[in-house]
Amino acid sequence: MENNNIVQSKKYYLFTDSTDCILTVNKDYMLDTHCHIFDPPLFDNLTNELNLAKKAGLTGIISVSTRINPAKQYIQYHQDVVNILPDSRFALGLHPWFIKEKSPDWLTELENSLDLFQGIGEIGLDRSQRAPDIQIQIEHFQQQLELAVKYDKPAFLHVIRAHNLVLEYLKKMPKARGVIHAFSGSPADARSYTAKGWLLGVGGGITRKNAHRLRRIFKKIPLEHIVLETDSPYMGLQSVDPGQSTPANLELVAKKLAELKNCSLAKIIAITTENANKIFK
Ligand SMILES: [Zn+2]
Repeated sequence: MENNNIVQSKKYYLFTDSTDCILTVNKDYMLDTHCHIFDPPLFDNLTNELNLAKKAGLTGIISVSTRINPAKQYIQYHQDVVNILPDSRFALGLHPWFIKEKSPDWLTELENSLDLFQGIGEIGLDRSQRAPDIQIQIEHFQQQLELAVKYDKPAFLHVIRAHNLVLEYLKKMPKARGVIHAFSGSPADARSYTAKGWLLGVGGGITRKNAHRLRRIFKKIPLEHIVLETDSPYMGLQSVDPGQSTPANLELVAKKLAELKNCSLAKIIAITTENANKIFK
């Protein structure tokens, strides 16, 4: 349904739905809900990357971490990020791939640092070959998700071929909220997550020529459940190699989604950013 009325001025979008009620009035803003700005090569050119992102229309990024340390130390640079992209947040967590690298008191360290961070992630379950034993992953996932609930913070989940397991835990923890980053599950998985209020992240994958399945799935997911991400520098796009992407590439993801949904870029930006902002209370 595309009878929405969008009035676009130079910097501001006035977005109204078909009943003519104003959903949001905001400036040209996009939010990258998943990137690793403190990893190389992005961190090596931090100021430059942030300025490029700002120029591309971003007002915020959500930096996620993969280990408690050194991520904890990068909190000192988070203010530099906020100075350029004021809607930015920082999530702390232990990624399943890096469980072996944890320190003995990692969980206490995570809990004690949480007042400085706005989310927990990235955490999750992964059944690919690269990941450690699933039972070990479950233990770490559950402990971190419990902290997210206890401290009322959104979680950013990495889920590879483990949607059934993750959904089982989310059922037990109805108060948990957040984003399934780079969602690649089935339409049924998508429905189960969104019924629980979870958001589904879409990244550069949808721009790839042969990503027909992913595009088919995201075409059907209502926009109210979608957020944009780059997973930079790791996730590639059709025109950018994996390892080389930047938050500024979010524009290409938004444009592709607009094409897929057959709606305006302004609508994509307004709704996905609102979705992301709602998970930070
Ligand atoms: Zn990531």
